[in-house]
Amino acid sequence: MANEIGLSLKQKMERVRFAPSPTGPLHIGGVRTALFNYLYAKKEQGVFVVRIEDTDRARYVKGAEEYIFDALKWLSIPVDESPVHGGMFGPYRQSERKEIYKKYVQILINKGYAYYAFDTTETLQKMRDEAEAKGETFKYGKHNRDNLDNSLSLDEEEIKKKVLRESYVVRLKNVESEYIVARDLLRGKVSVKADEIDDKIIMKADGMPTYHFANVVDDHLMKITTVIRGEEWLPSLALHTLIYKYFDWEKPNFIHLPLILKTQGKGKLSKRDGDKGGFPVFPLTWENSEGFKEKGYLSEGVVNYISLLGWNSGDEQEIFVLEELKNRFGIGGLQKGGARFDIKKAEWINSQHLQQLDAREIIRRMGLETNENLELRVNLIRERANTMIDIEKMLKWFDETPATYDNKVIQKFDTLSCRNLLSRVREHYIKTSRLTKQDYVEILNELEIKIGEGMQCLRLCLFGELIGPDLFEFMVLLGKDVVLERINRLENNLI
Ligand code: GLU
Repeated sequence: MANEIGLSLKQKMERVRFAPSPTGPLHIGGVRTALFNYLYAKKEQGVFVVRIEDTDRARYVKGAEEYIFDALKWLSIPVDESPVHGGMFGPYRQSERKEIYKKYVQILINKGYAYYAFDTTETLQKMRDEAEAKGETFKYGKHNRDNLDNSLSLDEEEIKKKVLRESYVVRLKNVESEYIVARDLLRGKVSVKADEIDDKIIMKADGMPTYHFANVVDDHLMKITTVIRGEEWLPSLALHTLIYKYFDWEKPNFIHLPLILKTQGKGKLSKRDGDKGGFPVFPLTWENSEGFKEKGYLSEGVVNYISLLGWNSGDEQEIFVLEELKNRFGIGGLQKGGARFDIKKAEWINSQHLQQLDAREIIRRMGLETNENLELRVNLIRERANTMIDIEKMLKWFDETPATYDNKVIQKFDTLSCRNLLSRVREHYIKTSRLTKQDYVEILNELEIKIGEGMQCLRLCLFGELIGPDLFEFMVLLGKDVVLERINRLENNLI
């Protein structure tokens, strides 16, 4: 009895994994897969595993694995088990699991569900070309496997000899006759005609497993209960189902997340879309593509925006922090259709998180020492900022005298009255060391200058163009000397 309870508790423990291939930086889709796996695990009090799928050495990119962990760290997505964090089911890097795959390939061979294939690349290419000439696609499978150069027709002795002499791959023997049926928790039943799946290679000539084989073996050995991955893997589900079946293993649950689409038009969001539109698609900078972090996004903002790519809370709420997402996330909120990427929305969400941060925290994240004056400055400008870069740029308003003035604005002015105005403001400032809005309006009335024009003149004087926060609060923080200096400078430019 105790054992039974123990077992049922154990079965309930959710284990999910994010299984990136280190073939480049983690893009927005990969970040979302990682995030949804993490959220799903935590909602269920389960375990979040990161497994590095690096068996394809030709596509291996140096630095990519490190990048993946740096990105997860920046996003504050904690990992329970991985090559970096350790765990009981390691190694978590597939390139370190070669011997394990060999053992499992042998098991399938022994069971009669896999066989050695010795056909040379040239023979296969020839057959592919012949099929193509007839408008067909070559498939290695039920209808022709007996006539090809493999171990199916050989006895054990012959196989042993041939294996020593020749180069070979191992293929999965698809013995299904009708449909291969699988279930996706989001999409329901997914069925594929059995003869659409050829006898796929599961071990390559170099002794490395193929992606599909290693993926299934590891999900089983790492006791993964739910596989959450991108929709691009849906076509592989039938093959994975076969592998589970031939091992006689219980399948995990599957959830294939919807594609992330371009902002406009058809197709998946790509790095090129980001380069063209000037927006980030990577969390951190990779080569010459700037990341969300470097573009001034907060990790909270990025996590929040990405959580909404294919999921919604079911009510109006859109602003979430990670802790809340952990409670709210569920597959009920996932959508099947593609999720459109919208950088404007990402910016808006980021600005909402920025407004929630304390000025001190903003300053800390900029890597600066805080002081009261800096906090006041940040508090004055923050409302207008979407990103940390906006804050950095706007802080320059305090330290840099405008280098140029917007000519279009100057041309609209009556230069003389603007100069009169500036000299009146100087007088007032020297006398009182301040200028309130009321003071300014009085001066404008006295000089018979329209309020709108007067405000523009002052804004031009302080910022060089018609931008910036409240003029009068800004001047308080700027201090008398700097205000006077800026007045002089515009005056000199209005001659
Ligand atoms: N290594 C695969 C990728 O990089 C993972 C597929 C899966 O999650 O099963 O997309």
